[in-house]
Amino acid sequence: MTDCLFCKIIKGDIPGNIVYRDEQATAFRDINPAAPTHILIVPNKHIDSVNMLILDDEPLIGHLITTAKVIAAQEGIAESGYRLIINTNAGAGQTVFHIHLHLLGGRQMKALG
Ligand code: AMP
Ligand code: ZN
Repeated sequence: MTDCLFCKIIKGDIPGNIVYRDEQATAFRDINPAAPTHILIVPNKHIDSVNMLILDDEPLIGHLITTAKVIAAQEGIAESGYRLIINTNAGAGQTVFHIHLHLLGGRQMKALG
């Protein structure tokens, strides 16, 4: 999608602090981190949100989670712990409509609310 911020980062049209890339996914540091480690893991294919997922996307979404595990280990937070979040639509705080998994760690997390 031409006007999508994350598609532009994936393509290299705008800079991103990329920490991981493979054929299916790209991961880069969040520009406004909410924790010492805050990385966004995104599919290279544009999908607006969880609401737009189809059955064929299941392996891709699984891959995002497996990628989060690999990156958590790289970042040294696998043992201390980390949180994975996907916000869907405005009521949940989604601001960028290219599906993404937030990987948050490096500090004690509070209960969800
Ligand atoms: P969400 O609110 O779940 O849609 O998450 C979007 C995230 O993208 C926010 O945490 C933003 O800080 C982050 N973000 C916005 N612009 C950029 C950018 N250019 N590079 C990296 N992260 C960004
Ligand atoms: Zn996109």
